[in-house]
Amino acid sequence: MLTSSNPGITASPIETYLKELHARHASLHTGRVADYIPELAKADPNLFGICIATRDGHVYEVGDSRAPFTIQSISKALTYGLALEDRGEEFMLSRIGVEPSGDAFNAISLKPDSGAPFNPMINAGAIAACGQILATGNRSRIARILEYLSSCAGRALDIDAAVYRSESDTGHRNRAIGWMLRNFGIIDEEPTAILETYFQQCAIRVSCRDLAIIGATLANDGRNPLTREQAIAPECVDNVLSVMASSGMYDFSGEWLYRVGLPAKSGVGGGILAVLPGQLGIGVFSPPLDQQGNSARGIRVCADLSRELSLHLFAGGAAPQPTVRLWYDASQVSSRRRRSNHHQQTLRGSGHRIRLVELQGELVFSSFEPVVRLALKQAPYCQYLILNLRNVASVDRVTLRLIAQLRSGLAEQGVVLLICYASRLADKLRRQGIDAAALFADDDAALEHCEDRLLRDLLGPGWDDAQEVGLRDAVLLAGLDADDLAWLDAAMPAVEVAAGDFLIRAGDDSDRLYLLLKGSVMVRLPSATGGTGKRINVFHPGMCFGEMGFLDGSARSADVVAMTAVAARVIDRGLFDRLKGERPRTTIRLLEGLSRQLSANLRRSNAEAAAFKG
Ligand code: GLN
Repeated sequence: MLTSSNPGITASPIETYLKELHARHASLHTGRVADYIPELAKADPNLFGICIATRDGHVYEVGDSRAPFTIQSISKALTYGLALEDRGEEFMLSRIGVEPSGDAFNAISLKPDSGAPFNPMINAGAIAACGQILATGNRSRIARILEYLSSCAGRALDIDAAVYRSESDTGHRNRAIGWMLRNFGIIDEEPTAILETYFQQCAIRVSCRDLAIIGATLANDGRNPLTREQAIAPECVDNVLSVMASSGMYDFSGEWLYRVGLPAKSGVGGGILAVLPGQLGIGVFSPPLDQQGNSARGIRVCADLSRELSLHLFAGGAAPQPTVRLWYDASQVSSRRRRSNHHQQTLRGSGHRIRLVELQGELVFSSFEPVVRLALKQAPYCQYLILNLRNVASVDRVTLRLIAQLRSGLAEQGVVLLICYASRLADKLRRQGIDAAALFADDDAALEHCEDRLLRDLLGPGWDDAQEVGLRDAVLLAGLDADDLAWLDAAMPAVEVAAGDFLIRAGDDSDRLYLLLKGSVMVRLPSATGGTGKRINVFHPGMCFGEMGFLDGSARSADVVAMTAVAARVIDRGLFDRLKGERPRTTIRLLEGLSRQLSANLRRSNAEAAAFKG
């Protein structure tokens, strides 16, 4: 289906669903707009918006999603977070409980022994939390609160002065709560100023779009997904979500958790903020309230959303995704470094001692635990284990520790654990005691390293003598007799270049075939972005390169760059034609050599394809 506002763009089924959800509830007219704060009574009961913001910052909105209203009690969840950052968990717990009270939001209920409010979501607890926020760096409490909420929402919020005035003129019940808190020593100063700050905090103007983004910030470890700013300290996020889950909807909290199953907070302005931890934030706005002071439509919208999109926290969807994507060893897949026949054979025979595991998704305890089991099961049969994190989206603290412990456990058994594609985790891994030598930019580099070590283990320290070879050692010329070799030796031009020089450039005509006699060269794809392209092959003395273009005549597809001083001999098209005319038998031998090389390459590609199919 095409929408007229977005010509040519297919409507998202999610937008279609939200529109349908909005239409379904727009006709519901239960509840009453709050009027105990006189200014709130002016709210238009028909305003109705729904918004969902994802953890990666995509926002879906429908209806009056940008209509402003005052945040009211929803601010309580956030100012509790700010007070926690200022004062720490223990101190806050000594002043304000985290027990659901089952009381109305404005109840004057304090714990009988200590006088501490039951939780920070009822007014008593919220006023107490507001009084714990520090006025630091020349900034008043309200300035800090406004700044904090603004960075959660990702835009500069302001205060609705009329609503603030109106509540300040009439909020005597809250003032009474303030004096009770002072009486019990829950706040350490006269409540008068704290109450004004609290009224201002409640009068901060938001839209339900803002609420959804604040929710997505809570879902994203406190980092605003749009601005990327760390708005809330990550260590406070679970505390905030916990009190939202147990007390956010006042005396409806139990039934809310039962029906909707998401940490949430409502306000008498008509807003509801709900969070699916780690995934998304929801904002709903509709001013008419039910008996408990929660948005009547908002409750129903959230109940439907949760059921229809299966968002309930305790619904069975939490099973971890399989983390092991692919699993193979170095006898099936080899690094891009070309090896001599002897080395290739050695690796084919012993490559199973190098194992690679490609992981994917989110690594947390329950998704990484099977990897630990797999690694331990493989340990007796291998020497090197490479964890490939290329497709891993995130690694939590616990998994980082498990990786480090697994590595030292394996080391005791003589197995080396290496990690590739871990550059973004390098610091964290180092803090766990994993040194930089264990980390590789990509799987090819890790694999080459392990192959080299394995070849050294098996063949001794002199394994890598990449000495200069003579023509008779060139793989391509195997099978030619002395006379052929002498003829070619006299006819083939010699090429010598220094390290860093190009022997071939992508796009060049392919009129030459090279026999490498001294030094190493690498084949590198030209980079689309102008940087250094991906290395796809490394050749050593005795090997030949440039054969593909030479045979099929297409332009060069990659650069070939000398890694050291290089000496090579060249067969160009003119020489090849001469050879065909003068020495047909020699030409056949040469072509046989080329065919051998091509089929060896194809075999290798087939083996890799088979391994990658899992
Ligand atoms: N400012 C309001 C009050 O204290 C907030 C209450 C609410 O949103 N539930 O009464």
